[in-house]
Parts: sequence; structure tokens; C-alpha cells
Amino acid sequence: MIQDSDSHTYDVDLFVIGGGSGGVRAARIAAGYGARVKLAEEYRVGGTCVIRGCVPKKLMVYAGRFQDEFEDAAGFGWSVPAPRFDWSVMKARRDAEVTRLEGIYGTNLGKAGVEIVPQRAVIEDAHTVRLVDSGERVTARIILIAVGARPVKEPLIPGAEFAITSNEVFDLETLPERILVVGGGYIAVEFAGVFASLGSRTTLLHRGDKLLRGFDEEIREALGEAYAKRMDLRLNQTVECLERVAGGLKVTLGDGSHMEVDQLLTATGRRPNVEGLGLDAVGIEIDAAGAIPVDAFSQTRVPSIYAVGDVTNRAALTPIAIREGHAFADTVFGNKPWAVDHGLIPTAVFSTPEIGVVGHNEDTARARYGAIDVYRSSFRPMKATLSGRDEKVLMKLIVDGASDRVVGVHVLGHDAGEIIQAVGIAVTMGATKADFDRTIAVHPTVGEELVTMRSPVGAG
Ligand code: FAD
Ligand code: NDP
Repeated sequence: MIQDSDSHTYDVDLFVIGGGSGGVRAARIAAGYGARVKLAEEYRVGGTCVIRGCVPKKLMVYAGRFQDEFEDAAGFGWSVPAPRFDWSVMKARRDAEVTRLEGIYGTNLGKAGVEIVPQRAVIEDAHTVRLVDSGERVTARIILIAVGARPVKEPLIPGAEFAITSNEVFDLETLPERILVVGGGYIAVEFAGVFASLGSRTTLLHRGDKLLRGFDEEIREALGEAYAKRMDLRLNQTVECLERVAGGLKVTLGDGSHMEVDQLLTATGRRPNVEGLGLDAVGIEIDAAGAIPVDAFSQTRVPSIYAVGDVTNRAALTPIAIREGHAFADTVFGNKPWAVDHGLIPTAVFSTPEIGVVGHNEDTARARYGAIDVYRSSFRPMKATLSGRDEKVLMKLIVDGASDRVVGVHVLGHDAGEIIQAVGIAVTMGATKADFDRTIAVHPTVGEELVTMRSPVGAG
């Protein structure tokens, strides 16, 4: 039992609900400070990112990209026998890797002294959680909610039960011959890219006129152009109804037309996992997005309850959940308070071609800084000269006119995520356009374009 300064006794110092990116990091760091920690996980330790998100997704992205390499090789003199892809081999190897990582997460928690409780936990009061399977109650000085989010099927059309989400896509036993992906966000764009590369007849259908709302307009347009060459891209379109028919699914679209596919993947957003969590019992009200409101230190309106990661809907990315979990543990258990800066978040969309972004796009920069300079380079990468691939790289720098600071970098092309991770350091440090200009190019690379753009294409 832990005795609090106000002389209450608790079973543990910290009870973490959810063993994903945020919860695991918070538990490990808090335990490192000597806190007695229990962590409940209702599914698999590692959470969305490890089990059915970033990791298995990226492995599938890698699988798909070999297709381009096989095609491109011919231009460099290789003759490659017709490649054959075996979904079951990829799936088995991918699943084994996920299981390996899950084991490492569990081992590391154990080594740190965190007790894993493999069941669902809900909140009973400000210091008590109830374990749903065993009915046991555990009291804690601090409760951390790190329950993440889950995919939603929106709108809920007739036949929605026949659609799969990103949760089920990893369980498919065969590569669908025909797949319809619905949505225009990260998940839809990434999976449509994967299935198209792996050889499925892929349709990507989005209600809007461009993919990836919130990204730079020219990047959105360029991705749309690239995707239209790689798959059947349908914009300004909706799905109205889904029926199971012999040999697949019959889909009725908003314009009254029909199509038949083997799978329909809905990727129309995710909602925080708050249902039945017991928030009512402690008076925590969710916001319009269904998320738990927290302050800069991830504290909810109940002083003993904190929340990190996707459930707070600040930025639904793994490095953010991890950082929020770390900051929470340092602040509450390490006597080292710090708050995560959500202002500048490098991010990548693992589409093919890939997108990497840090900072403002033209519109948000203009709204924030007024006068801006925009540098743009759109070019055929050297590799494409021999491969003959008809795809361009697009790079943009957005510069604050007054301070000369680079406030946004946008890259569409091969390895954009890798490029943006490195350039993100410079932008985070406050690099100016002059700093970019005095950086010597690495030649010949795609990335050198970032330090050789000299004439702004747009200002104001
Ligand atoms: P999660 O990792 O979701 O963990 C929450 C955990 O809580 C889950 O394991 C859940 O089972 C458990 N849980 C829920 N309720 C309870 C309860 N009551 N009791 C016990 N346990 C409970 N982000 C990136 O940065 N890069 C990417 O490439 C990327 N790719 C993604 C691809 C996909 C398909 C998806 C869906 C997401 C992707 N993300 C990516 C987002 C990333 O996975 C999330 O932002 C991240 O996992 C959030 O971490 P979290 O700790 O908040 O929640
Ligand atoms: P997003 O919120 O990114 O995208 C949802 C998409 O669904 C949007 O295009 C939206 O359209 C569309 N949509 C929403 N509601 C409806 C509806 N009722 N009918 C039709 N279309 C609809 O969600 P995702 O599920 O793609 O991803 C969730 C989050 O996970 C991401 O935002 C990201 O933070 C994280 N993630 C990160 C990845 C990475 O880092 N590489 C990869 C995968 C996920 P509209 O634009 O018109 O609103």
C-alpha cells in the first residue's frame, strides 16, 4: 500500500489504462522513478501502432514498393522474371514480427517493474479502477487514461457490416482482387497505395475534391495526379449502400452507379475509446470530437486522472502519444514538469509516392505570418530518367517574409518521410532560408533541392 501525503492509502501509485504507445511509455518512466505501477491492456500490449497500425502497415508499404523497383529495374538493364507476390508469406512474416515486438514491449514493462493486467479496466471513482473480467478493484493515487481510439464506419450506410476497417485489414487471408477504399485521410491513402502496388484492382473513393484535407494544396493535387495513374481514383463521390452478392460485394455509389468488389475498406476516421470507461462516474465530459479534454500537462478536470495519446485527440500520432506519456511521468512522478509542444510536428504519409511535412502550409502560414515567400521545385528525379517512371518530386519551402524563418517544408516523392525527419530538426531549431542556402548540397540526391531553391515563386 502507498501512503499519500494526505494520508490516504492506495494499492498502487499509478494505474495506466491502455498498453499502447502512450500508456507503455508513461508506465515505464513512472516505474523508473520508483512508482508502483499497474497497466491494464484489454487486447495486445503495444497498442494500435505496434499491433494494427504503423508497424504492420509500414511492412505492407515496403511489400508493395518492390513492385516499382521491379518495373524500374528494366531501365537499368535488369531483366527480371515476372514477379509473383504471395500474400500469405508476407502476412505470416508480418504477423510474426508484430508478435515479436509485442513480446519485447511486455518484457520491457516487466523489467521496469510494471505489472501488466491483461484485461479491460474501467474507472469507478477518482482513485479506483475496476477490472472488468475479474471484478477486482484497484485503488491508485493517479490514474492515466491511455485507451487510444478506434476506427468508425461513417456514414453508417445499409450493409456497413460487410465493410472492413483498418482493424480487420490485417487479418485478410488473401489479397483482394478488387478493393474499394473509402476515405481521403492518412489511412485510406496509405492502404489504397499498398493494395494498388500489391496488384489489387484498387478504387480509392473520397467525398471531397482532393485527398488529405489540411495538407498543402499543391501536394494534395500532385498526390491526386500520381494516384490517378496508379489506381481508379474517384473524388466527389460517396457510397450509399453495400450488399453481399455471389462473388463479392455490390456497392451503390452516390451517383446511382454500381460497382462490384471483393472488399470495401472504410477509413473515414477514428474516435476516442471512451465508451463505458466510467467517465460519467467522475464527471469528465468529452468534447465535440469525443475526446477527453486535458491541460498542457495532460491533467483532466479530475486532479488524480490524466489522459494521453489519441484519446485526447491532440495529434493522433505515435511519437506524440509517447512524448505525452513521457512528459506526464516526468511531471507527476519525476518532479520534472514539462509540457509537450504540439506546435511543430513533422509527419509522413506512407503513400507511394510518399509525403513528408513539417510546419505550415501556404494557407496557414499566410494566416499566421501575413507576408510569406514560397519556394517550389517540381522535378523528375534522376532515377526516373533511366527507369522511365512518369512521376515527379515536389518540394516546397514556406518562409516567413519578416524573419526569413522557414516555417514549412513539404515533400512529395521517394523517401519524403526520411527527408522530413532530418529537415524537421532544422525547422524546429528555427533555421532561416539563409541557413538553408548556406548548407552545402549533397550531390546527386533528391534532398539537395531543399538547399538549392533560390527564387521564390509566390509571395504575399
Ligand atoms: P493506442 O496505441 O491505440 O493504445 C491504446 C490501448 O488501450 C490499446 O491497446 C487498447 O486495446 C487499450 N484499451 C482501450 N480501452 C481499454 C480499457 N478500457 N482497458 C484496457 N485497455 C484498453 N501514427 C504514426 O505516428 N505513424 C504511422 O505510420 C501511423 N500509422 C497508423 C496506421 C494505422 C492503420 C492506424 C490505425 C494508426 C496509425 N498511426 C500512426 C496512429 C498511431 O497508431 C496512434 O496515434 C497511436 O497508437 C496512439 O497511441 P495511444 O497510446 O494513444 O493509443
Ligand atoms: P483522418 O481523419 O485522417 O481522415 C478521415 C477521412 O475520412 C477524411 O478524408 C474525411 O473526409 C473522411 N470522412 C470522414 N467522415 C466521413 C463520412 N461521413 N463520409 C465520407 N468520408 C468521411 O482519419 P484516418 O482514419 O485516415 O486516420 C486517423 C488518424 O490516424 C490520422 O489523422 C493520423 O493522425 C493517424 N494516422 C497516421 C498515420 C501516419 O502518421 N502515417 C497513418 C495512419 C493514421 P474530409 O477530409 O472531407 O473530412
